[in-house]
Amino acid sequence: MIYVGPHISIAKDISLAPGRAKALGATAFALFLKNQKIWSAPDIKKESASSFKENVRALGFNDDMILPHAGYLINMASPDEEMRRKSLLLLKDEIKRAKEIGIRKLNIHPGAYIEGEREDGIRRSAEMLDQALSDVDDFMIALEDTAGSGSNLGSSLEELAQIIDMSKKKDCLGITLDTCHLYGAGYDMRNEATMVLDKALSIFGKDKILGVHLNDSKADLASRKDRHDSLGKGKIGLEAFREIVCHKAAEERPLILETIDESLWEEEIKTLLQFYQEYIS
Ligand SMILES: [Zn+2]
Ligand SMILES: [Zn+2]
Repeated sequence: MIYVGPHISIAKDISLAPGRAKALGATAFALFLKNQKIWSAPDIKKESASSFKENVRALGFNDDMILPHAGYLINMASPDEEMRRKSLLLLKDEIKRAKEIGIRKLNIHPGAYIEGEREDGIRRSAEMLDQALSDVDDFMIALEDTAGSGSNLGSSLEELAQIIDMSKKKDCLGITLDTCHLYGAGYDMRNEATMVLDKALSIFGKDKILGVHLNDSKADLASRKDRHDSLGKGKIGLEAFREIVCHKAAEERPLILETIDESLWEEEIKTLLQFYQEYIS
């Protein structure tokens, strides 16, 4: 089975997200756990958390189909003390929120080292993951690959593996593959998607691939730019997504659309589910 759906808005109330996903024909979805651009937000109300869980159950979703995305302000690799303190607090808060709504996973960007050496950034990122996970059970953090602009970490599979290896909480870490970011970082998802996914499987193993973000790319191969496009409208092209959703790495994982035109989501979901149907029949 494959699970496909978009990154859904939590506007008004987080408990509305599962219904919004279902209305689009989605079998998976992603969401932020609070406004992603602010440091502190009100707690999730008890009633909202329980009605989120109730809606997830009633609409046929489960934990395997939902992958929350951490806010953008967190920088786990930052060298700045104050930034580190705030990032850790926020990351812990995001984990707490995920658990409150019954989810045991969180997707996050590995961070930007800003100053100094890349190696220092990798170490700092691993350290923050250790701190954030120190008193947490039964929870996985997925490090998302990046296009590698500026000093952003995570633009190669090997670098994601390095962060995981350096952590004391290895067992609680996995990855998310973003097709647009991979392409920007120089992985040719247009012509070699199967090879790239095979490589990810051989480095990490299936258990550590916690999700895939399905985005086409406006930017060129190896441009180091992160510019999402609708499926089939960008440089990667629609056929590559057939290959991706029919690959073992994508099976039974949340496959999340972060494509730029919401009005196409329903159609994109349908197309991807159909690719898979054609593949298995
Ligand atoms: Zn992301
Ligand atoms: Zn992106």
